[in-house]
Amino acid sequence: MTTIALVTGANKGIGLATVRQLVERGLTVLLGSRDLEGGERAAREVGARPVQLDITDDRSVRNAAEFIGSEFGRLDVLVNNAGLLVRKPALEVSAEDMRAEFETNVFGLVRVVHAMLPLLRLSAAARIVNVSSDSSLFSKTTDPGSMFAQSHDSFVYSATKAAVNMLTVKYANAFLADPALRHIKVNAVTPGYVATDLNNFAGVRTTDVGARVSVHWATVGSDAPTGGFFEEDGPMPW
Ligand code: NDP
Repeated sequence: MTTIALVTGANKGIGLATVRQLVERGLTVLLGSRDLEGGERAAREVGARPVQLDITDDRSVRNAAEFIGSEFGRLDVLVNNAGLLVRKPALEVSAEDMRAEFETNVFGLVRVVHAMLPLLRLSAAARIVNVSSDSSLFSKTTDPGSMFAQSHDSFVYSATKAAVNMLTVKYANAFLADPALRHIKVNAVTPGYVATDLNNFAGVRTTDVGARVSVHWATVGSDAPTGGFFEEDGPMPW
């Protein structure tokens, strides 16, 4: 039986590379994109199925869940990859700016998890991967030598990704406590500093390298941990 996977924010960047690698591993992959045309183009390129999915839009998320339910009857892998970074000096960031970034990186992720949970519940061994960031790490944002401390860019972003790490732990514990959800493993990952639109291609890793950690945790076996935060080489202390 083929494994059914959904990757959010997958029309480009690390998400697209994640889809490509999951397809290469033989999974049936749904490529989520808020712009359907862009998603269709990207999906053709990598042999995936496009799904219109704006994670800030209730109706879009509901429609995507209904489509996956009617087409496949379940979901085995959810990669919460969609993300947003607002570039503004810290002292210019307004409450509205903060809300926009939290809306995508945190509330959008929660919206997708809630919508997909009934489908993940029907999988024999479901996996959720939450794409976080090194910039969620307190030690990196407070170390004056770190690029995260020097960069104004990650003012709100760091907080959203720290929230993603915490949500991951809370979800993992909640799943473990519920016999109907115990088969769902949820882990947070960081792709490292990857050259994409998000950072004006300043990153040093390729999207193919950045995607590897998501692919690994999307396809781990039943003996793997849950509720952790990982880089490619192993656990991240946070
Ligand atoms: P990109 O900007 O290339 O890709 C971000 C993706 O998220 C795009 O497909 C974008 O869609 C999508 N997206 C944004 N908002 C929404 C929304 N409301 N609904 C659906 N999709 C949305 O960046 P990356 O590939 O670098 O980022 C992927 C993930 O990796 C993010 O979560 C990011 O925070 C994380 N990350 C990236 C790092 C890096 O160095 N690049 C480092 C650490 C973490 P659209 O094209 O329509 O804007």
